[in-house]
Amino acid sequence: MKPFRSRLTLILLLLVGISVLAAGLTMAKVFRDSHISSLEDYMGREIDLLEDLLELPPAPAAGEALPSVFEEEAKRLGSLTDSRVTFVARDGRVIGDSLGNTASMDNHLNREEIRTSVSGTPGHAVRYSDTLGRDMLYVAAPIVSSGGFDGYLRLSMSLDIVGEGLQRGWIIMGSALAILFLIAAVVSYRLAGGLTRPIEHIMDTANRISKLDYDARVGPMRQDEIGQLGASIDNMADSLQAQMHTIRDNESLLQNVLDNMTGGILMVNQDEKIGLVNRQAERMLGIRADRVVGRRYVELKRFYELTRFIEEGLQRKCRMHDELTLFVPEERLISLDGVPMTVLEESYHGMLFLFQDVSDIRRLERMRSEFVANVSHELKTPVAAVQGFAETLLAGGVKDEETARSFLKIIYDEGDRLNRLIGDILDLSKIESRRIQLDYAPVHVLTLFQSVSRVLEGAAEQKRIEIRLNVPEELFIEADEDRLRQIFLNLVGNGVSYTPDGGRIVIKAEEFTDERYDDERIRFSVSDNGIGIPKKDLPRIFERFYRVDKARSRSSGGTGLGLSIVKHLVELHRGTISVESELGVGSTFIVELPILQENP
Ligand code: ADP
Repeated sequence: MKPFRSRLTLILLLLVGISVLAAGLTMAKVFRDSHISSLEDYMGREIDLLEDLLELPPAPAAGEALPSVFEEEAKRLGSLTDSRVTFVARDGRVIGDSLGNTASMDNHLNREEIRTSVSGTPGHAVRYSDTLGRDMLYVAAPIVSSGGFDGYLRLSMSLDIVGEGLQRGWIIMGSALAILFLIAAVVSYRLAGGLTRPIEHIMDTANRISKLDYDARVGPMRQDEIGQLGASIDNMADSLQAQMHTIRDNESLLQNVLDNMTGGILMVNQDEKIGLVNRQAERMLGIRADRVVGRRYVELKRFYELTRFIEEGLQRKCRMHDELTLFVPEERLISLDGVPMTVLEESYHGMLFLFQDVSDIRRLERMRSEFVANVSHELKTPVAAVQGFAETLLAGGVKDEETARSFLKIIYDEGDRLNRLIGDILDLSKIESRRIQLDYAPVHVLTLFQSVSRVLEGAAEQKRIEIRLNVPEELFIEADEDRLRQIFLNLVGNGVSYTPDGGRIVIKAEEFTDERYDDERIRFSVSDNGIGIPKKDLPRIFERFYRVDKARSRSSGGTGLGLSIVKHLVELHRGTISVESELGVGSTFIVELPILQENP
């Protein structure tokens, strides 16, 4: 039970109990008093009556023998009136008593009832009787009997009857009081409840709020101070809830920012436990936030270098930077920063570690520098040739016109090569940096291949190479026509270059449904029965400047950039390219392109 309520109930019950007891006691006193006084009246009237009826002789003088008539009369009257009857002479001697021990009784003149009695008004007293051993009511009055007796008649009655009446009264009153008390208990409990219930309700609500149940409200109450207290609690809950919302909003905003960052974040608290891991860090480290947050960072022991870095950071508590390699699952180069976390510029909370995957950046950097080196190298060769032959001619040492012409031809060819090389490099860098805009339009595939064959007809005829088209008439594709032509000019051109005299090139196109992309595609294949490509070179032939046989490529006028450009163009069309080849047997390049391009 609620302590306040029970205490209040107890106080109320105590009050009720005391008042009920006081009322009981007062009632008992009034009852006893009125009972005694009505007995007195009754006995007084009895004495009056007996005075008129009695015919007793005069009392014998002191010292004379007592006639037995007094005692007999006392006994008779005693049994008639159901009380003790005593006759007392004027001088106070007891001359007859219904109890029969007259001789042993002392003088009664000083007994209160006798002393206070006057003729007409009886005297009375309540006293403990030594003779009977109980409380007795005595009523006495002077009487003059027609037989000559002039003395006192005293009636006495045990107060036991009063006591019994009183007891009965007490039982009735007690049960009434008990019932009253019970009713009072219930009423006071409810009364206390009425007082404390709103307070209990407010307390309950406050408890729920403190247990983070921000929806709990006291609700409307009466208009007094308690009601105002309830309203204040509700206002407090409202503002708490609003603040909580703001905090949650901010939290989810922050979480969103953290999760969508390209960098990984790992927070290690002062106690060396992981406090936070964002999605990117989960990905980079191959861990799960719900498994590591709250655990010690040393449990990341799989990453030895990382834990060393964290350890150092926690010791030094200052900004740090490093680059390390993680193998999750393949090798990644990670740029790692450690920043101490301080709140309000003073209290240190731990370290924040930021991960940036720099593998791609570093690879691009490496590729770029390699590209520059390759380009300079590729440019140097024709320039050196042009310079060398021009120098020889300028020196005037070549008198023979035919030799001079052949030198000039070489200078011209190298110039041409240089031109194509620069053209290809510009083209490639434009495609790679996605600075070209593809112009999509429906292209009739057969027409396209006919025009490709026509361009290469001359070169093919020189080597007696047959170009065979195996393309259905009805095929159309959505593509940038010029770029599509560039793709196949390169592939078919390579076929012509790398196929010995009398060879054959077959161009095929067929429609199919690609389940991976869930769209309609066309598979193009360009097959030759030429020299083929060694297995070890196959994965690399799409790289820039990669050539299987430098001398042969040069002699065929290749730049080593063709396939690289082709691959980029195919990918710009959302397609794929692959190659199958066997040394000395031939090569097949397979290009798969979607029939329809998604509109951007
Ligand atoms: P290139 O200008 O040298 O032809 P490409 O990028 O077009 O450069 O081709 C790269 C290399 O791939 C070529 O040097 C050649 O060694 C090889 N190659 C390309 N196509 C064929 C083919 N049809 N048959 C054999 N080898 C080929």
